[in-house]
Amino acid sequence: MKTLNDLLPEGIRTVAIAGHVNPDGDCVGSTCALYLYLKKTRPELALSLYLARPTDDLMFMDVMKEVSFEEPAPWSPDLMITCDTSSLDRIGCGAGLFEKAERTLSIDHHVSNTRYADETWVEPDASSCAEVLFYLFEEDKIDLPIATALYTGLIHDTGVFQYSNVTRRTMEAGARLIGMGVPHTRIIEESFNAATFGQQRILGWCLENSRLYLDGRVVASVCTQNDMARFGVEAKDTGSVVAVLRQTTGVELALFLYETEPGTFKLSLRSNSFLNVAELAARYGGGGHVKAAGATLKGSAPALLAEVLGTAAAMLEESDV
Ligand code: 5GP
Ligand code: MN
Repeated sequence: MKTLNDLLPEGIRTVAIAGHVNPDGDCVGSTCALYLYLKKTRPELALSLYLARPTDDLMFMDVMKEVSFEEPAPWSPDLMITCDTSSLDRIGCGAGLFEKAERTLSIDHHVSNTRYADETWVEPDASSCAEVLFYLFEEDKIDLPIATALYTGLIHDTGVFQYSNVTRRTMEAGARLIGMGVPHTRIIEESFNAATFGQQRILGWCLENSRLYLDGRVVASVCTQNDMARFGVEAKDTGSVVAVLRQTTGVELALFLYETEPGTFKLSLRSNSFLNVAELAARYGGGGHVKAAGATLKGSAPALLAEVLGTAAAMLEESDV
């Protein structure tokens, strides 16, 4: 079986670790777990971990004190490892180091990984990058902080073990981490369920303003920066909207457009059974997983909604025949 050490080049001294833009629970959990595991098992390495600042609910791990949240001045690590990052343009904080690094390694679970690194270890059937890492690590070397980071990654990418990306292997990883003593209820409550008042209200607003399209097969909602300002929230506070939209009875596709900068919208897509949203997102330069994907688009909200609905209609029609 492959272990993490098999993926690391010989003779390295300095390692930079990075994740993707807008880091989610799996990105934070997997990068932190990798950092802590290397710190413990390869003490001779000088490690740096770069992450864009996540939402407050992902800041609870002690290791967050060791994270650099600012883009570093250029330097050349012997090895740069990205976690949970499917393409070069998706690397978040630390992206500037990628082309300066002597060697690069991508550890991921996105089917759409573009193999942009010198070495790629991608497991598209894994629920999360945290699951990939769990099985690359030697289990007896996983301590409580590493287990906590891995568990955080697992629950965020699986919606606490409910999505179709969950397999027996996912549950076994979760079970073994619980066996190591991770405070699982606290992690779920504090990092997954908890929402600020503003996050709750923008969720409510986005649901109230959602509409059904294409004979009820698509549910969509749009949120502009003006809308967010009214609730005192930022784009990253809308993270739970698309998952709740997806729960609408009878819907195959949930579509959420939210404005990240004036005139720039993030498209979040979820499907329920047959529609490949990674393909739909790819039409707009994005990517992701078969049932959860996204892209970045420029334009006005109504025009973008009409455009994506048009593509979705064509794809739904294709799958009808
Ligand atoms: P979310 O809707 O939660 O932002 O993203 C869902 C999935 O789609 C994640 O796995 C994420 O990596 C992927 N994704 C989201 N936005 C983009 C994007 O702009 N480009 C690519 N390649 N993938 C994206
Ligand atoms: Mn992930």
